[in-house]
Amino acid sequence: MKLIPGDIKVIGFDADDTLWVNEPYYREAEDQFVKLVSTHGVEEDISAALFRTEIGNLQLYGYGIKAFMLSLVECAITITGGKVTPDTIEQIIGIGKGMLQRPIELLEDVKPVLEKLAPRYRLIVATKGDLLDQERKMKRSSISSFFHHIEVMSDKQEQNYIQLLHHLDIEPCEFLMVGNSLKSDVIPTINLGAYAIHVPYHTTWAHEEVDWEPDSDRFFQVDQLREILDIIS
Ligand SMILES: [Mg+2]
Repeated sequence: MKLIPGDIKVIGFDADDTLWVNEPYYREAEDQFVKLVSTHGVEEDISAALFRTEIGNLQLYGYGIKAFMLSLVECAITITGGKVTPDTIEQIIGIGKGMLQRPIELLEDVKPVLEKLAPRYRLIVATKGDLLDQERKMKRSSISSFFHHIEVMSDKQEQNYIQLLHHLDIEPCEFLMVGNSLKSDVIPTINLGAYAIHVPYHTTWAHEEVDWEPDSDRFFQVDQLREILDIIS
């Protein structure tokens, strides 16, 4: 079996849908939203309008639940032709607040895997999203003690990882990234010379989807998080 060499110093874990459940909550919220405004269009059209609104706002708002809430409100105004009622807007805000208050649901094997790796490597969390929300989730997660620190990144492109490695004061070949997104966790880190393990999750946001995998000796893929222990030497 192909193994990751022993000179890895830092392992970065993505958070959402790698350590804990995230995307299914967005899907549930979207379903609630579609029901709320369903008198103004068919489900597919409303979902497509919401996706367009979110992508249009990414540059300004970044990722996370609060940005999502603003996009929900904007989308409701657009698809109702400005006729959305204050009551409906209140319910939309309620959907977002509900998301922010959900308990943390750790994914399978997260704790035992971190327990095994923490004594041997410097572990960090490298995540997109809203700073306050990600810190809240980490605090409530019962796994914060395993991590050296949590890096909330405005985006996960090559440039963002170069900055991260610079802060960590390590070479790309000393960094391993573990995450569920080929686009955000794997491709940029492989491109800059680091190692990456893809742990797919059953639900992926359309914006994170790519239909190709990197062709590299530094790229690994597993079905279950616990399998990463078999390839980290
Ligand atoms: Mg993720």
